[in-house]
Parts: sequence; structure tokens; C-alpha cells
Amino acid sequence: MNLLKNTFLLFCSVFISITCLGQMKFNSNKVIAHRGAWKANSFPQNSLASLKEAVKLGCEGSEFDVWMTADEVLVVNHDGDFMGMEIEHSTYAQLLSQKLPNGEKIPTLEEYLKAGKKQKTTKLILEFKPSKISVERSERVGEMAVKTVHRLKAQKWVEYITFSFEGGKKAIATDPKAKVAYLNGEKSPAELKEAGFFGFDYNIRILRQKPEWIQEAKALGLTTNSWTVNTAEDMIWLLDQGIDLITTDEPELLFRILKDKE
Ligand code: MG
Repeated sequence: MNLLKNTFLLFCSVFISITCLGQMKFNSNKVIAHRGAWKANSFPQNSLASLKEAVKLGCEGSEFDVWMTADEVLVVNHDGDFMGMEIEHSTYAQLLSQKLPNGEKIPTLEEYLKAGKKQKTTKLILEFKPSKISVERSERVGEMAVKTVHRLKAQKWVEYITFSFEGGKKAIATDPKAKVAYLNGEKSPAELKEAGFFGFDYNIRILRQKPEWIQEAKALGLTTNSWTVNTAEDMIWLLDQGIDLITTDEPELLFRILKDKE
């Protein structure tokens, strides 16, 4: 009887997994909103409101930045300081003493991922910031970010980016399936492939100097992304180079350019 019950439960869980997988339909339009879609509506960068706006616009991905507090809580904010408090030297409770201009509190990574999981069209591009304190702390942030994503079962939504080569390698070691792209711009596609990275996300100035890296990366099966691309001229140039993704503060402009190119 137990065997029958277990078989039935196994069948149900496989069925539910397949059904859920079938419902994941991420947009495919190259548009990554940088720190969420904040500019047109003056939302705070990296706020839940800017994430929701990126989803509403239909972006392929919404990027956000992650720091670790002194008491090891991962929080979402661009700069190393939040309202005059150095995040790495402050406790999470201390950060709660201030609010974002729209009244939100600083989101924890957990809260941000839970909000992101409520939709199934926009990927969450998680940038974990290198620690200003130590390489070990950078590695810890990478490891903890991956573990948080796993705990919340958010792997299908999340891709990672980082300026920390060591932190990136730690994230890949923590989850060999983690899709980690490198931001700093000094590594060749071959070096990234060798280290297990998923792709690059390089500054437009680097790619203007080394446009051949885009095709080299694609030939190696790496993804290509560029930041922070805010002019029509740069967007069109990258699209002509065959870039996979463009990270921008101006997602509405990029959507218009893509539509004109159709
Ligand atoms: Mg960022």
C-alpha cells in the first residue's frame, strides 16, 4: 500500500514540475532594465516598484545589486552606502531606520526574489557586489546569494553578474549550473569559458575597442551583454554586432529601436 502511495505521490510531483516548467515563458527581446525600470517614472533605483515597472514594460530581464550587511543579511541597493550608512559596516536593523524616497524599506534579497517570482516573464539579473573589506567577503556574498536563490527555488528566474572574478568563481563552485556573467571587462571570452562563466556583461567602451569579443564569445557558447547603454547610437551599434542583451537605463528607448528594426 505504501509503495502504491509513494508511486502516486512521485507521479504527482513529476506532473506538477512539468506543468510549472511549461508555464515559464520569459520574454526574449534583449532588453535588460538597469537597476529596474526607474527613470521614466522617477522610481527609486533597485526598488520593488522599479522591478514591477520592468515587468510591466515586458523587459527580458531586470538587473539589481546586492550587498551584505555587517550581520550578513543580503540587501538590494546600488551603492555601498544606503542613506549615509555604509552597508557592510551596518546591521540590517540600522538600515531599516531610513526609507527609500517612495516609502519602501531597503529590500532584502529574499524579499526581492519573492516579488520577482510572482511573475514568469522577466528574468532577475542579480549583481553581487565585491566587498570593500576583503576578497573572502566577496566570495561569501557570491556563495550566500546562490544559496538564497536555491532556498527560495528561484533558479529559473535568476542569472548572476559580478565584477568580482573570485566571487563569480565561488558562485559557480556553489552551484555549477549557476549562470554567472563577468562585468569587469579585462578577461577574454576564452578566459571566461575556462573559468566556467556563462558569459560577459561588459561596458560599451570595452566592446567598442574589442568588438570581435562578441563573436568570439558566441562561438564559445557564452552569452553577451553590455552596460550601461543609454544612447540610440550605441544600442543600434550593439544590435548590429549581434549582441544577446543590452543593459540600459532607457528600456523604453531600446524597445522603440527594436520595433523600428523589425
Ligand atoms: Mg548593477
